[in-house]
Amino acid sequence: MTRLKEKVTLVTGAARGIGAAIARAFVDEGAFVYLTDIDDDNGRATAAALGEGAAYASLDVREEADWREVVALALSERGRLDVVVNNAGITGFEAGAAAHDPENARLEDWRAVHETNLDGVFLGCKHAIRAMRPAGTGSIINISSRSGLVGIAGAAAYASSKAAVRNHTKTVALWCAAQGLAIRCNSIHPAAILTPMWEPMLGSGPDREARMAAFVRDTPQRRFGRPEEVAALAVLLASDEATYVTGAELNIDGGLLAGSAASPG
Ligand code: NDP
Repeated sequence: MTRLKEKVTLVTGAARGIGAAIARAFVDEGAFVYLTDIDDDNGRATAAALGEGAAYASLDVREEADWREVVALALSERGRLDVVVNNAGITGFEAGAAAHDPENARLEDWRAVHETNLDGVFLGCKHAIRAMRPAGTGSIINISSRSGLVGIAGAAAYASSKAAVRNHTKTVALWCAAQGLAIRCNSIHPAAILTPMWEPMLGSGPDREARMAAFVRDTPQRRFGRPEEVAALAVLLASDEATYVTGAELNIDGGLLAGSAASPG
């Protein structure tokens, strides 16, 4: 398995969920991966389980100083950076129920979601381009969401931030191409991937199965996606099989965006 042989990769939010699955798939394909997160305990454990092909570094995507430090570490230890996966993201519901509709959301909650989901991706792209420029080649992968392509009445900041990630991805792709760089930038748009992010909503009681079924009722494949299925797309975008793919958006949603759930039967 060498589709990513020796590609030096940085993944944000890699302690668990989709980021951890991406790190695992990349190591399996021969990459060296810096797993980064704010959850240092789980981040270290996840990286340790991946063996010699991985290391952990603490990186809060909102902090430019962290970006400078970790990218400098990768360059000093490995000599280059080939792939950056901007995966870290929050819904805004992590600390419990809060209004996130456009009428009642608090400005500070709106800003907090954008700070992680959008500012974090901006910083990741900025420092990726700077690190990749000497080699003139690389792949930046931004994890957006299905929510970046449609409105979400009860999660305005999440939807807005993910839509902005989609747009910024295309700006980065155009900028790099205009500079004569073979640095590509693409976005992945997952929906309903079963990760710890869902646990507060699913619970563990006897109604868990029913709640899961309800969440994917409108998904044509009628199931949650798996983090490994998202990781497979990231492997493709990072690999040299995708050298003509830039500014693109790839949906992975069990068919949800293929048509309206409200269409007449
Ligand atoms: P998880 O919540 O399972 O994992 C996210 C990880 O990111 C956690 O380890 C979290 O740490 C970390 N994190 C949070 N804030 C920061 C920060 N400021 N800097 C660095 N790391 C941070 O999420 P998923 O794996 O489910 O989601 C990954 C990405 O995929 C997100 O961008 C999400 O929006 C997107 N996505 C997910 C979908 C899904 O159904 N799961 C669907 C569509 C998109 P901590 O736990 O300490 O907060």
